[in-house]
Amino acid sequence: MIFYSPDADPVYPEVDIYHYLDSNPCNVQPSKTLFIDPVSNQSITFGQFQIETKQFAAGLQDTYGFKTKDVLAIFSCNQYDFGIPILGALCAGGVVTTINHSYTVDEVVHQLQDSGAKFMVTTVDLLPTATKAAEICSIAPEHIFLFSADDAASGKISYRSVFAKRLATPVKIDMEDVAYLCYSSGTTGKSKGVMLTHRNITSNLVQIMDYDAEVIKEKDLVVLGFLPLYHIYGLMNCLHISTITGMTTIIMPKFDLPSYLNNIQTYKVTNTFIVPPVALALAKHPMVNDYDLTSLRHIACGAAPLPKDLCEMIEKRLGVYCRQGFGMTEASPLVACIRPGKRMDGSVGPLVAGLTAKVIDTETGKELGVNQEGEWLLRGPNVMKGYINNVEATKHTIEEDGWMHTGDIVYVDEQGNWFVVDRLKELIKMKGFQVAPAELEALLQTHPKVMDCAVIPAYDASQATEIPRAYVVPRPGVEANDELKKDIMEFVAVRVANHKKLRGGVVFIGEIPKSASGKILRKDIVKFDRRDENEK
Ligand code: AMP
Repeated sequence: MIFYSPDADPVYPEVDIYHYLDSNPCNVQPSKTLFIDPVSNQSITFGQFQIETKQFAAGLQDTYGFKTKDVLAIFSCNQYDFGIPILGALCAGGVVTTINHSYTVDEVVHQLQDSGAKFMVTTVDLLPTATKAAEICSIAPEHIFLFSADDAASGKISYRSVFAKRLATPVKIDMEDVAYLCYSSGTTGKSKGVMLTHRNITSNLVQIMDYDAEVIKEKDLVVLGFLPLYHIYGLMNCLHISTITGMTTIIMPKFDLPSYLNNIQTYKVTNTFIVPPVALALAKHPMVNDYDLTSLRHIACGAAPLPKDLCEMIEKRLGVYCRQGFGMTEASPLVACIRPGKRMDGSVGPLVAGLTAKVIDTETGKELGVNQEGEWLLRGPNVMKGYINNVEATKHTIEEDGWMHTGDIVYVDEQGNWFVVDRLKELIKMKGFQVAPAELEALLQTHPKVMDCAVIPAYDASQATEIPRAYVVPRPGVEANDELKKDIMEFVAVRVANHKKLRGGVVFIGEIPKSASGKILRKDIVKFDRRDENEK
């Protein structure tokens, strides 16, 4: 059975991302403030954004020989001007890959190499990591630019020093060409480059604006953007939507609760996109009472399941309607969202317009009907082109007729509301950030005292998030004690980004349960893990 969105198909733009922005579909005034840095109070208007992105594009072309399909990497925490080098590179016909700013050298190298990046914009504090990684990947030192001012000591210039006097003519790009390479582990294995095309992104922009049309029409909307802009959830909702609709967006460099609440109060924020751990704070943290949050009108939560009680607590406490959406990098990202004003407890809402879905039996692959649980398959204009340099993983994820496996277990009710009940794929979501068990397992295998291992999601209710926990079989003769646990946790901690640390601890086990073909029976370990916790 095929399920459709309840909404009529929208009209999609038949132009690439930059031309779509340049066509100014929402008639944004040039003087409209788009982005504000709440720390320095600097800001960018729509008019400035259009000029500076073209100046950057022209500078890249004229001085650095930047060509169509060249890849520019952004390796930085959030900046109010994050969008300028990104849209500038797209204007010049390039491809953008956004890198998690907490990555270690090895993690950055993987993404730079895999994406084939030739240019990078980073920050002074990340330069040691950036330059080491760039050197390994043979990125020319003069192709590394900074978000801040020129830095004489490092010999690096600001991306603003790249600006040409002339404005570039936006390069016309085929809609099926790749615009972004965002990294995701997908249903299995390590982090892979998700190829999101111009069609994918412009379609999802229209899909988002379609279901949120009533909200977008409201006057003087102010968005608070703390979501990391390197992740597609932040990139779309706090950057692209703002540039198209002209919503003013406050870009926080990172999340901390007092600044978050203070920014809502100071900037009279109306819309905030959150993740479940922030929902937990809004629902329960005493500090929330110290701020005037009455400007808030819309709260949308995504990236991981939002417990129903948290949603209700927020609504009761703040008097603001809170709705859940479901996204994934491979769908650019929005898949389903509760429509404004609608309440569907525990659901992630109906499909966005233009997206179709199937539910299949995880054993037999048979198509299922309403109220039957199975794997969620999606097909639509926002579904990725595939994984770069990885035909195998692409084939495994997208069937020949275009159906993409989400790796999520869902059911749909008679009204077309979708409920996410479990995850088939290996992914762990730590505060909305991806942790690929396969990556941590490969690392643990290199520990001299580890014979075998499996990494699973444990749940930390105090933070409303999954956390990675390792089950480890020590090598024969090695004593399984607390010291070894500590040693293993530290071994991992110094080699991976912060969100991948083994916050769920290490548990010793005699043998990792595996199938006949040697695949880790992760579900069995999770079951064992949960039973263990219930007994405690
Ligand atoms: P990412 O590609 O990092 O956005 O991760 C996508 C995955 O996050 C999905 O496939 C789901 O497993 C999970 N996810 C995102 N939003 C939700 C939600 N509202 N409820 C449950 N899981 C979610």
